[in-house]
Amino acid sequence: MTEHSPVIIAIDGTAASGKGTLAKRLAKYLDYAYLDTGLLYRRVALTLIRQGLPTDSREAAIAAARALDPAPLDDPKLRGTEAGRGASVIGAIPEVRKTLYDFQRNFPAPCGKAGAILDGRDIGTVIFPEAPIKFYVDADVAARAQPRHKELLAKGETIAYETVLADMKERHARDSA
Ligand code: C5P
Repeated sequence: MTEHSPVIIAIDGTAASGKGTLAKRLAKYLDYAYLDTGLLYRRVALTLIRQGLPTDSREAAIAAARALDPAPLDDPKLRGTEAGRGASVIGAIPEVRKTLYDFQRNFPAPCGKAGAILDGRDIGTVIFPEAPIKFYVDADVAARAQPRHKELLAKGETIAYETVLADMKERHARDSA
């Protein structure tokens, strides 16, 4: 890192553990740039879903990752259950991870801020292992499923708490592997 490179803060953790809230608040407080890297994986998954393809379509997922445009990351559908589930599936494809690695590495330099905060699963270990500040955020799965369930209901999804809980456990098993 050169003297003028933005300071990197890496925030990793489990789904709905509060890492995004922490990242957003810190970014606002410090006036740093912020990237929710889960949205990149969700964006690729949603592209496949909208093309009517299963989320384990390897070639289509790689192509979608390569064509990733940061502009549409505010699509509310990205926060839905389907995109989250799909993100976890396409996240297991090494070429997708490699493409998104480049996207994430290239995020801080042109941001024009003194620092950048990235939250995700592998920021402090793979994307920016040299980050001087790293957090790992976790909480019991039941405590994480409750706010996620509320958030999905507020977004208009019809989904049972038990489904959210089961989905989180399944996703955690896949993400850990
Ligand atoms: O954090 P969020 O729930 O939005 O992430 C969705 C999925 O994207 C995760 O379950 C994980 O499989 C994948 N992901 C990842 N690496 C990241 C961020 C997210 O593999 N840095």
